[in-house]
Formats: sequence, C-alpha cells, structure tokens
Amino acid sequence: MRNSYGGINATSVCSRFALVYNRHFVWCTLRILLLSDIHANLEALEACMAAAPPYDFVANLGDVVGYGGSPNEVIERSRDLGQVFVRGNHDKAATGLLELDDFNPLAAIAAIWTRDQLTPEHHEWLHALPQGPLSLEGFPHVQLVHGSPGDEDAYIVSIGDALVPLLALTTPLTFFGHTHLQGGFFANGSVADGFRPEYRTVGQAESVPFQLKQNTRYMINPGSVGQPRDGDWRAAFALFDTDAQVVHFHRAPYNLKAAQDRILAANLPARLATRLAAGR
Ligand code: ZN
Repeated sequence: MRNSYGGINATSVCSRFALVYNRHFVWCTLRILLLSDIHANLEALEACMAAAPPYDFVANLGDVVGYGGSPNEVIERSRDLGQVFVRGNHDKAATGLLELDDFNPLAAIAAIWTRDQLTPEHHEWLHALPQGPLSLEGFPHVQLVHGSPGDEDAYIVSIGDALVPLLALTTPLTFFGHTHLQGGFFANGSVADGFRPEYRTVGQAESVPFQLKQNTRYMINPGSVGQPRDGDWRAAFALFDTDAQVVHFHRAPYNLKAAQDRILAANLPARLATRLAAGR
C-alpha cells in the first residue's frame, strides 16, 4: 500500500503528534516533504531532491504529469519517493478520467501526448491515484488536496477563494497545489489574509521558514516543482516540521535547458518550454 505508513522509520519519536506504526500508537514528530505539480519535469524534481533537507516521508499533491517531457521517468521517481499521493487534474486528463473540454489548447495537447507516452503500468498507477482530501493517519490536524477541500479541481488563488474553505474547515491545516503559486492563506477569528515567502536571491537555492500559530487555520501551497507560475523560475517545494510547527518554503535552481530540450524534442508546443524560463 503506497498510501500508508509502511516503511516509514519511526525511530525519531518525539512529542506533539501521534503516529500509528506497526499497530502501536506512538507520539512522534515527522518532517513531511511536500511536492506538488511536478508536471513531468524530471530535472526540476531531481534538483528539489538534491536541495531537500532531511525528511521522513514525501506527500505528493498531484499533477505528477502534464506539460513536461518526462512523464514516465517522473512517475518512476515519484513512486520511489512517495508514500502519500492525491491526484491532480492533469493526472486525470492523461488517463481519461477528465474530459479535455476545460483544458486550454496547450494543456490539452500535452495531455494527449502524455497519454500516448505512458507505459501500461504507469497509466494504471496514475489512474488509481486517490481523490483528495486525504487525511494522514495519526495527523488529524492535516489534510492534503490538489485544488480545494470541497472541489479537487478548484483554484485557490486569492483570499476571496480561500475564505470559504478556511472558515468551513474543521481541519486546521490544509496543504494544496494546483495554482503553482507558492505561499498560502490563513484565518484566525478576526483576521484572514494571504502570504508568500520572500526570497533574497533569484537564482540560488534558498529557503524561508514560516512559523504556524496557535488557533489559526491555514491553506498552504508548497509551490510547483516543475512549472512555477509566480514569476520565479526555480523549482518550488516545502518541508513541514510537525514538531516545530514550521513550514519551510524552498526554491531550487535546476537544469532549465535540459527540461526545455525534452519538451522541444517531444514536439510539444514551444511555449511549454519558454514559459519555464519566465516562471509563468
Ligand atoms: Zn498543475
């Protein structure tokens, strides 16, 4: 079972959260590596893994494929890395679970190309990915979605989009993807707002910590590994330290040219390659 804690090393036992491990209930801390929207960009994924601090397990928020030129390689690597997955709209489109009517032409072309590339095994794996929200056994405070808790395909771009789910949430912390915008939203009684990590460099590996506060609800997006759209071309990911209650946002430069060359070599639309350089 990939969506289980099988294989997780629970020796780093600490306080705050409970984890069911080998049918024993233990209090422990975990460092969850959050990857989302890899979009078949193998070079970006490898750069993230090289830049990632030590972690206990990977949670993948969907859109493993679509747009990029390495769908099979990225699925292979993601399966090796991850125990916890939710499906994204591009994962559905590439396996016939979603009509392409709502896709823009570039996304639709890439979805059809991806569908043709997938090995039967990878198609089956992608097709079987679970729909969010996904709860983590032993972590009642956390849930994982691709789009929004109420609609896996909805885009949470602004505080206006986030307000209804934030106020309706019974789970205080939701990790989501889909928008390819790193950062998130919070609400605590009288205040609700959005936030983005502020980086000092434009081309180097860098991380920014974000301390979670008590009695506050959050929706947090680790950003897109393989196709950032916040104007920063670097691959994005995050690490959630459950003990310190800190989300570390990360950016990692990657071999952009190699990723672009794969897209061009596949005869996918050139715009899918050029947009990577702009982070749009
Ligand atoms: Zn996506």
